[in-house]
Amino acid sequence: MKYSFYILLSLLLVSCGETKEDNGKLKVVTTTTMITDMVENIGGDLIEVNGMMGSGVDPHLYKPSEGDMRKLTNADVIFYNGLHLEGKLVDVFEKMNGIGKTTIAISDALDKSTLIGSDYFASNYDPHIWFDIDYWTQMTEFVTVKLIEINPENKAAFEKNRDIYLKKLADLKRELASKIEELPQEKRILVTAHDAFNYFGRSFDFEVVGLQGLSTATEAGVKDVQRITQFIIENKIKAVFVESSVPRRTVEALEAAVKAQNHEVQIGGELFSDALGSGGTEEGTYIGMYRHNVNTIVNALK
Ligand code: ZN
Repeated sequence: MKYSFYILLSLLLVSCGETKEDNGKLKVVTTTTMITDMVENIGGDLIEVNGMMGSGVDPHLYKPSEGDMRKLTNADVIFYNGLHLEGKLVDVFEKMNGIGKTTIAISDALDKSTLIGSDYFASNYDPHIWFDIDYWTQMTEFVTVKLIEINPENKAAFEKNRDIYLKKLADLKRELASKIEELPQEKRILVTAHDAFNYFGRSFDFEVVGLQGLSTATEAGVKDVQRITQFIIENKIKAVFVESSVPRRTVEALEAAVKAQNHEVQIGGELFSDALGSGGTEEGTYIGMYRHNVNTIVNALK
């Protein structure tokens, strides 16, 4: 679905003509639930954050609704992941730039030479950068700087909130590292629905295998299932994992294929990969999501 410039322009004019009351707060639109959570942590009550994608939503396949287009045209600033994670929104962001909206890819905070490469994405990089907690820290600092540029009167409050959040991220990293120490090196093999966990693997010394490749836009084939089935049997892997934003069927096909060869593998639980859990739950935050994933992985593979 493509939006022409004229439709965008008319939406913009309609939104400008609206007389709905304005609370005077900076209006921020975010794409993924991870980014929404980060920006809410920095902005607190001082800004209005509107997330486009909800819990369980797959950003690779996400297409903007008309409601999204209205949110975007009303926004003062738009934060997105970039690196072609939001594959179908690239055109929309370009058009938003064309009408003078500030759109910011949070991945611009990172030194590209340190990213994991990928032939699949047009960006040439693996976009699942939130699973590197050091990257998440850098992106939090970057987003804070950008918010201060646009909304300097709240500088002190943004910086205070940022510091509280960065301390929590540092504590989280230590906590996860110590949990992962319960798992001997040879058991650190993570098989999931799609290749979202390469940065997690690099951070915590796991070998990572995704059934569907880096994007969910390509389906797993029979060959992938056969290859990974052999891999599971050879490496005596106890558990594989489903993801909240990817249909379970490919992982279930894998489980069935392993059992058909008289070997046991469990579905070790559900991980949150490209979207957080429901709002109001622990897993609905970045920190709670990461803690849930690591506890699920370690407990199932031990
Ligand atoms: Zn993904």
